[in-house]
Amino acid sequence: MALRGGYMIHVENLIGGKFVTLDESFDDISPLDFSVIAQIPRTKNVDDAVRAAQEAFSLWSELSLEQRCDWLDKIADALEEQIDEVARLESLDTGKPLSVALNVDANRSVNNFRFFANFGRSLKTQEFQMADATNYVLRKPIGVVGLISPWNLPLYLLSWKIAPALLMGNCVIAKPSEITPLTAHLLGKICTQIGLPAGVLNIVNGYGPEVGQAIVEHPDIKAISFTGGTETGKIVAATAAPLFKKLSLELGGKNATIILDDADLDIAVPGVVRASFLNSGQICLCGSRVLIHSSIYDDFMARYLQELQNFEIGPVISREHREKVLSYIELAKQEGGEILAGGGIPDRAGAWIEPTVISGLPHTSRTATEQIFGPVVTIHKFDSDAEAIQMANCTQYGLAGSVWSRSRGRGVAEKIESGMVWVNTWLHRDLRVPFGGVKDSGVGREGGMWSIGFFSEAVNICVMED
Ligand code: NDP
Repeated sequence: MALRGGYMIHVENLIGGKFVTLDESFDDISPLDFSVIAQIPRTKNVDDAVRAAQEAFSLWSELSLEQRCDWLDKIADALEEQIDEVARLESLDTGKPLSVALNVDANRSVNNFRFFANFGRSLKTQEFQMADATNYVLRKPIGVVGLISPWNLPLYLLSWKIAPALLMGNCVIAKPSEITPLTAHLLGKICTQIGLPAGVLNIVNGYGPEVGQAIVEHPDIKAISFTGGTETGKIVAATAAPLFKKLSLELGGKNATIILDDADLDIAVPGVVRASFLNSGQICLCGSRVLIHSSIYDDFMARYLQELQNFEIGPVISREHREKVLSYIELAKQEGGEILAGGGIPDRAGAWIEPTVISGLPHTSRTATEQIFGPVVTIHKFDSDAEAIQMANCTQYGLAGSVWSRSRGRGVAEKIESGMVWVNTWLHRDLRVPFGGVKDSGVGREGGMWSIGFFSEAVNICVMED
């Protein structure tokens, strides 16, 4: 396999403030053209990383909250100085357009550190007054925490965990996806350059079932925040539960986008195309089932398919993932679906696949209920709000959704069995709000106070008055 641009990045683990190489490594392949862009160490054991984190813990946990907020700001500043490099590496590693890598991934990664720095400064001690006593809540760090993230929004999702974990005084073992390690590696370099105390942030690389599993199994890692697929989430939960670890699971989704008969199509059409295909449909929040009121179906679909022609997407993440997505397009045909757009692969190197729109499938079909996680949406008609709600709620998943309506959006949104529902918008994020799923889409919430709660132990001190 050819090297892209004639050079190779050597990803190293960051352990105790030092970059460490291992004898065994494997290739990181860009989905843009299948060239090898990096070598990734194959880590199987996290004992050194845990030891380094434990050694750093007493220093880090004894800093004041204000001092740790200052560190998060320093990381945000240093990351921002290299924001173009973050975007370039993310685009190279994931294949996403540079504009998406910059505006979605890189910006948000900086904002995650900045947000939690400011949020930390706004934290107040909770008090509960009794007639004869005062209770107050201490938020103690947990210790060493394990953070595991997927390949679709690599640094965006990893920094969403690292920032609150560090804020609350924990030391971190972070594992990026084996497919997309480049920006985590850059973050590690940045943190050492600015002098973040050694061992506070450790980054280990390798295959999920090896190094990921080693993190989840390690008895001295006291909490696991995992974002990934539902099947992997089951393994993580089964491993961590008997060890009584705190566990946050952000898992898969099959989100419904509902367009009611009174929707403003000037807003809905571009919004729904974006919700369908941003990041090639590889965002857990993407709306991969589009439910349209029958009275506006023809008008909406004509405009949707037109809008789609101007929407830029990159390849999917890998050759293997493209095979999976293509297998679902084949399945859709067997299940009686009609391909309205796309369905094939463009004639170019890389894991490219055309944005694909499929109609005519029962909303209970496998294509319409299983997570594909690619640029494929199924289209379904409904005749009443009640029918739309019933269709939206018919999957095992319950992560997100959106409703497009001039007047009835809230009422419908409240009946969707999902952790997050947008009305007349999508992916509009306030980082203070709870983020997470119901049903098989996960356990727990992160974001704002929910992240603070997860990454700390709330201890009540009850003081009897004189
Ligand atoms: P995976 O579940 O395959 O992997 C997620 C992470 O877990 C990766 O770092 C992976 O490592 C690691 N891993 C794999 N096996 C284990 C194991 N046994 N123990 C510990 N860690 C392990 O998901 P994908 O990377 O394929 O990501 C796509 C999935 O993520 C989709 O289902 C998507 O819906 C979900 N997702 C959910 C989000 C949410 O907030 N709810 C947000 C974004 C994505 P490696 O990659 O090296 O195998």
